[in-house]
Amino acid sequence: MNSMTRIKTKTPSPYKLTHIETDTHDTKTFRFELPADATLDMLPGDFLYVHATVNGKQVKRAYTPSSLPDITGSFDVTVKRYETGTISKYLHEQKIGDTVLISGPNTGGHWVDGMAKRVGFVAGGTGITPMVSIIRWILTKKIDAELSLIFANKTEQDIIFRQEWDRYVRDYSNFHCYYLLEQPPAGWTGNTGRITPDLLRQYLPSPGPDACVFLCGPPPMIDAVEATLKEFGYPEQGIILP
Ligand SMILES: Cc1cc2nc3c(=O)[nH]c(=O)nc-3n(C[C@H](O)[C@H](O)[C@H](O)COP(=O)(O)OP(=O)(O)OC[C@H]3O[C@@H](n4cnc5c(N)ncnc54)[C@H](O)[C@@H]3O)c2cc1C
Repeated sequence: MNSMTRIKTKTPSPYKLTHIETDTHDTKTFRFELPADATLDMLPGDFLYVHATVNGKQVKRAYTPSSLPDITGSFDVTVKRYETGTISKYLHEQKIGDTVLISGPNTGGHWVDGMAKRVGFVAGGTGITPMVSIIRWILTKKIDAELSLIFANKTEQDIIFRQEWDRYVRDYSNFHCYYLLEQPPAGWTGNTGRITPDLLRQYLPSPGPDACVFLCGPPPMIDAVEATLKEFGYPEQGIILP
């Protein structure tokens, strides 16, 4: 018998912050406490809302947990801080022991086991966050699928969870990762510039009933990549947005 409590709330509930990890110069992972036997009621890729009152105004923003969906006792969100950002800045000001109002999970562009055998991921910067738990899930649960990640960033310092992706490339023969930098450092041997149709054709699975592509990043990148994938023959339902 499974005694695990699965949490999903429509109204904001307070969650205690128990751990903060610095991932890059502007990105941190925040760990929130759940009861020891509780997990979020979600699939990988579903999202939460973080709520706060900032300058007298109630605001909320969506965040996709980066932790595995079936862990109990805690969950993580990985958040990039925008200098002029309302909630991202608010979250980065929180300290261990503080409580944050969170509702959800809500259905996002999620992964369902068995939905594809060849899975592409195209992420721009913080657009990696919805894909983190999906990639972790497929690899650690040893789900039979070939994964190809194209991860575009401005600089090398912006690559979120780089050590993890490099480790997965070494440890899992079904995981492939291609970095793309707009401003590469001297000696960079990876891809450079912006995402092009050639790059997508080279690294992503070709369209087919067993293929899908998760896509997340700045709106101009999403629009361009989505249009190209459709030209390649990807059906609407084969392109999954957050
Ligand atoms: C389903 C979903 C899941 C998301 N998951 C995550 C996540 O896991 N981690 C995460 O860090 N973010 C995530 N986001 C983005 C997040 O919801 C906020 O938009 C982001 O944190 C900025 O909010 P803010 O209140 O700090 O900035 P705002 O006050 O909304 O905006 C302030 C400034 O930041 C700029 N800005 C805002 N968002 C972006 C952006 N995405 N790219 C470039 N500039 C931007 C605006 O143009 C503006 O100048 C997700 C969004 C969606 C829709």
